[in-house]
Amino acid sequence: MVVVGELALWNSPFPLVAWRRSANLTNPMTLIADLVRLHQVDSQVRALRSRLDSSEHYVALQEKQRLLLAARIDEIKSQIRQHQATGVNHEAESGSVKARIDSLRNQLNNSTNPKQYAAVLNELKLLQTQRDEIDELTIDQIQKTDDLQVKLVEVERLYSERIKVSDAGKVELNTCRGEVGARLGELDRERTVAASKIPQRDLDTFNRAADLYDGEAMAELVAVDARRREYSCAACNMELPVEKFASLSSNPNISVTCTSCHRILFLSQVSSAVG
Ligand SMILES: [Zn+2]
Repeated sequence: MVVVGELALWNSPFPLVAWRRSANLTNPMTLIADLVRLHQVDSQVRALRSRLDSSEHYVALQEKQRLLLAARIDEIKSQIRQHQATGVNHEAESGSVKARIDSLRNQLNNSTNPKQYAAVLNELKLLQTQRDEIDELTIDQIQKTDDLQVKLVEVERLYSERIKVSDAGKVELNTCRGEVGARLGELDRERTVAASKIPQRDLDTFNRAADLYDGEAMAELVAVDARRREYSCAACNMELPVEKFASLSSNPNISVTCTSCHRILFLSQVSSAVG
């Protein structure tokens, strides 16, 4: 049986060595090497952006909570004013009923006619009951005001704490901006240079995968068992057809993606050569 081409290499005692030599995989001037370089820079850019975004998100969250507490304080103060005003009205009403009661007491004391005495006494009792009810409403308003005052103290305490946390977050954010800002600008420029070396079609594939996997646009193609020609994607662990390895090994200027997760595949020696 005559065995030729790829099969001859896979069946040789040193198949990978032969493939590496033939494909010149450690030469960094290849598409795959350029993609690995882009991946390295892109990952750093995303990590720094993520740190900055987290810091900004944290400050924005604290600010949102601070505003909610401020609105709650305004609301409680407004409720307190309303209950106080209602209480004052009840007190005024109680005062006028008391004046009427005092007047009727005088009439009662000066009354000589039993029938008139009974009528005044009856009215007096009714007014006293009415006044008691009004006073209860006043007490209810005072109680509500007191409860709200307690709540106000607690919410104002939370507000003060939130301001401290928010201020500390702003300081941290400024530090982060200072530390990250300059490096991010540098890396953005490096990324632009690295991306300019990649053909548009491959760059689109890279960007799609990077966005989908939070920067993890590339995955190593690993040999599960090279003799049995079993390969897999290191990122999603799915088995890959041998043709993927063959293609990547024979021509590092053609990008190959994982059948399952669609990340761009690379061989470890390329990554080492670039890194
Ligand atoms: Zn995969």
